[in-house]
Amino acid sequence: MSDNAILAISARAARLRAEGAAVISLAAGEPDLPTPSHITDTVARIAGDPALHHYGGAAGLPGLRALAAARLAEATGLPWNAGDVQITLGAKHALALALQAVLDPGDQVLVTTPGWPGHHGVIEAAGGVARTVRAGADAGFLATPDDLARARTPRTRALILAGPGNPTGAVYPRAALAEIADWALRHDLWCITDDIYQEFVYDAPHTALLAAAPHARQRCIMINGVSKAHAMTGWRVGWLAGPASVLARASRAVSRTITHVPLITQAAAEEALSGGRASVRAAHDRYRANRDILHEALNSLPGVDCPLPAGGFYVFPSVAGLLARHSGRWSSASDLAAWLLETAHVAVVPGEVFGAPDRLRIGFAVSGTAMAEAIDRLRRALGHLT
Ligand code: PLP
Repeated sequence: MSDNAILAISARAARLRAEGAAVISLAAGEPDLPTPSHITDTVARIAGDPALHHYGGAAGLPGLRALAAARLAEATGLPWNAGDVQITLGAKHALALALQAVLDPGDQVLVTTPGWPGHHGVIEAAGGVARTVRAGADAGFLATPDDLARARTPRTRALILAGPGNPTGAVYPRAALAEIADWALRHDLWCITDDIYQEFVYDAPHTALLAAAPHARQRCIMINGVSKAHAMTGWRVGWLAGPASVLARASRAVSRTITHVPLITQAAAEEALSGGRASVRAAHDRYRANRDILHEALNSLPGVDCPLPAGGFYVFPSVAGLLARHSGRWSSASDLAAWLLETAHVAVVPGEVFGAPDRLRIGFAVSGTAMAEAIDRLRRALGHLT
């Protein structure tokens, strides 16, 4: 799997915009809003502070590590302190460091499909081999220990579990997490939990794997960051938290390569975590409203079957019915996505990117106005065909 198709769609959307088309992008993997002003104002105020102009520690600013630890304590009900946290260049870097710390070359890592292609990329970058575990729509896009067991071999060292998932929005319930953690412990596997969409769960509270299975703490590495929750994808700040042996390796790798994450962006992340949750709550409520209208609108289109995502900011409908009805027009979800971009000027991502060729990923981290206009355009474009 690769995300080249996302780049191709984005490039085509940019060209259409340059030609004057009012393209609405529902293809991005990030909120369309700018970073909240309490964060940018703080950065503008502190940018002249010489304390931020010089070298810092490889593990990250103590204040940011303590704030991340407090979030982890809240999510897991376990004690965490700054020493348990390594600050990284976003969640992807945290995943890469976690995998480098636990894998030997050729070791395998279980990842669910449909899933985010970035997981495959970081596994390969760390010298590992991804083993995909099918977790389809019929199973709510959730893998069970039996599914994982079918993919496990003696070379399997770890599994990555994202909750909510991208592109599925699937959220593992507490009991499922406990079963998976127990299964992983029995087979001496590392559980790497990617909770980057944790703030965007709509129908039930988010459960961290370690809240469901605190006894897995010595085999669990938790990944998170400010990218999605605080509209800070470009600032590149995330973290990993886990046992001391993993932290020591991660910190050494940071020290030997990037020295540390830039202090100014760490300070911005400190403000994100300490500056109140009003902007995160507002984003959450906006996305939930968008999710509900998009889900309903898509299910009213003939040939489209859209499950309701429990979290994240994407829907992942099946368009198999639509492709079957119009097999002369499109032969794949990629064709359909390209046609929607040309005809309706709405950018979406074909499911091929995520290992589900008969689906589309449609993002809803946009304004209510953009959402309503995009739905209207999709209805009109597809309505003309039937
Ligand atoms: N994890 C998942 C599941 C994602 O979808 C993404 C980005 O799309 C990331 C991690 C990357 O997060 P960051 O931008 O903090 O590296």
